[in-house]
Amino acid sequence: MKIGVMTSGGDSPGMNAAVRAVVREALNNNIEIFGIENGFEGLIAGRIRPLGWHDVGGIINRGGTFLGTARSEKFKTPEGRREAVKNLVRFQIDALVVIGGDGSLTGARVLVEEWNEHIQAIQAEGIDTGTIGTLKVVGLPGSIDNDLYGTDMSIGADTALNHIIRAMDDISSTAASHQRTFVIETMGRHCGYLALMSGLAGGASWVLIPEEELDVRWHHKMIEAIDKSRKAGRPHQIVVVAEGAKHPDGLRIRSEEIKDLIARKLGLDVRLTVLGHIQRGGSPTAFDRILATRLGVAAVEFLINNPNKPICHMAGLIKNKPTFTPLDEVITKSREVEDAVEQGNYRYAQELRGEGFRKAMELVKMLTQITPAKTCTDEGSVLVFTGGADSPGMNTLVSVLGRCLLNQGIRVMAARNTFLGLIHGDIFPLSWDEIVGWINKPSSEIGAMRIELRDSDYAKMSENLERHKIIGIVAIGGLKTYLGMERFVALRERFPSFNIPVILIPASIDNNLPGTEFSVGSDTALNAIVEAVDKIRNTAGASRRTFIVEVMGRKSGFLALMGGMASGAEKAYLPERGISIKDLVEDVQMLKESFECGKKMVVFIKNEAASQYYTTDFIRRVFEEEGEGKFGVRTTILGHIQRGGAPTAFDRVVACRFGVYAASLMKEFLSNIEIHSKKALVLGLKGRSIVETPLEEAMNEMDRENERPKYQWFLELIDVADRLALPMPHCKPRSNSLSMR
Ligand code: ATP
Repeated sequence: MKIGVMTSGGDSPGMNAAVRAVVREALNNNIEIFGIENGFEGLIAGRIRPLGWHDVGGIINRGGTFLGTARSEKFKTPEGRREAVKNLVRFQIDALVVIGGDGSLTGARVLVEEWNEHIQAIQAEGIDTGTIGTLKVVGLPGSIDNDLYGTDMSIGADTALNHIIRAMDDISSTAASHQRTFVIETMGRHCGYLALMSGLAGGASWVLIPEEELDVRWHHKMIEAIDKSRKAGRPHQIVVVAEGAKHPDGLRIRSEEIKDLIARKLGLDVRLTVLGHIQRGGSPTAFDRILATRLGVAAVEFLINNPNKPICHMAGLIKNKPTFTPLDEVITKSREVEDAVEQGNYRYAQELRGEGFRKAMELVKMLTQITPAKTCTDEGSVLVFTGGADSPGMNTLVSVLGRCLLNQGIRVMAARNTFLGLIHGDIFPLSWDEIVGWINKPSSEIGAMRIELRDSDYAKMSENLERHKIIGIVAIGGLKTYLGMERFVALRERFPSFNIPVILIPASIDNNLPGTEFSVGSDTALNAIVEAVDKIRNTAGASRRTFIVEVMGRKSGFLALMGGMASGAEKAYLPERGISIKDLVEDVQMLKESFECGKKMVVFIKNEAASQYYTTDFIRRVFEEEGEGKFGVRTTILGHIQRGGAPTAFDRVVACRFGVYAASLMKEFLSNIEIHSKKALVLGLKGRSIVETPLEEAMNEMDRENERPKYQWFLELIDVADRLALPMPHCKPRSNSLSMR
């Protein structure tokens, strides 16, 4: 088998990471791999070249696609495709990995369908087709719109979403200063994903998407909402409109129209920002790099593992696992939503987008309300707190959870600084107006703190719970919070006031909690690591240098492994693997060989607790001494940079989903308190779904000694990370003399 890889259609951030993974995985399996430039246009023109390991070095952090991409009218004709087949025959390429949107995947499928016909025609022309077999195709979903069936996320969508919410954050500050109203137009001709999720995560006042049927008076409602929002003293008003949003008669809503309408009706200074290609550009996020890497590797494995089967599939990530769906199904189902939107069959379009999409639409509507739908009753309050260490996204969570509870007429109180507020009675009410603006704020407004709890503290907590008539608790935090609440539940016999429903939500940058694949804050931390490593790579120029970047994570290697994978680091030291002296000897040898082979820089990521004895500084000194002057070593400890900053889109969206879920669960518990007074549940994100696990069961999943879950899904990616990160494979250094004196 020989594989050709190409990027086609509109570019999307993460395409380079996908090509890198495909190339390196193919080479690791001794398969020849060719890069096809400029999509189908290059295939027709024969712009095909073999790719080696180093051709894809240093590209993981780059936006766009180094192979180039294009739209090709010629390829839409049988003659064009005949030329393409001739070139594939010339290079004997019988497997194609095509990274692109539904158009590109359609093109690839047509090629597979017509393959035999073209081959026969070419043979009839007297051209020798060699030993080429049937064409196999694996598509990868490369599209910022996130409009493809067969994957939960497409490559590039997360980066685009982050661009939008960052723009919204920036605009909110200028909007607040000048009391301006903003209209932001996002991409998405048929798919409202970007507009909807950014509206949610960015705190929009109104969102317009293609999948929603608007009634004829929609603009009156929008104007009324903006007017009310201003009168209520909200600092800014932002309307997010997807480029494909439509009037009830099916005509496109132009963003200019909205701007003029608001200005005319309310006499306001309204500014329009059309984000356009900014959404496509720039360095991909950690999520997109990891998604692209996983799918690229899976595509090659799929080709290798199915030697005698016809392959015409797309690799997507479903429930956090690479999954293959026939291209036919991907194309038909993706088009079905587009057609439903075109034909004004909005209900069906929403149904096809799935439950999560519909819920997000409902949530946006609820959050854009100016006041809660119900007035609070006097039946007691739900207490919320955030703790141990803070993590980005906690504020988003409190903002959404709080508003969802208030909207159902449930009073909400907060305890300042986690258990400390509960012990000292520092408990205060949260109001709708106060928490509206917390959606994008870093850290935790209600305070977070790690404290060691004694049993006497619980007696004080009990008094305060009674004093403030607390009828339920939502605890947002990391392992210390989980342990504190585990003890709380164990003391229910002793303290009757503890017999109230308890819901725990995972929020920790370390991602070391049971019952979930991701905790709120871990994506922001991961992106902070990746951005830092990108910068480090820019500094070292031509010098031969090894960087050891120490990251957080406590005794879980999530940040180190995923940070290493996403930044293209050559190695990750993980607490799960530990570090031995033998490892260090081998690493020095590998470093010396790499630099002798011409490598200019190597980055190692080290988890803060990877070894109790071999600290970051110790490893630096070993490398310096044993490197015999062949390279320099620098260390960087990223520290609290990983905790700070505004939460990423992923963390905000996950926080919103946890918040709304917890509020509705709490409502259910409170409506039948006799049955639910002893409930203690942990929420988690598994695949696309929010799942509930009883606290006791969740804590049984913990390896208590090592303070991490016994099973950590991301460890399955160790092999992939190792295979793709080899610094200089296939290189024979000039000298080979390592001495550990
Ligand atoms: P984006 O999501 O950015 O639109 P895309 O992959 O959908 O990406 P398209 O422009 O729709 O982008 O398609 C890319 C290329 O795929 C086209 O220029 C064309 O060469 C090929 N293609 C699309 N549809 C077909 C088809 N029905 N038959 C053959 N080739 C096609």
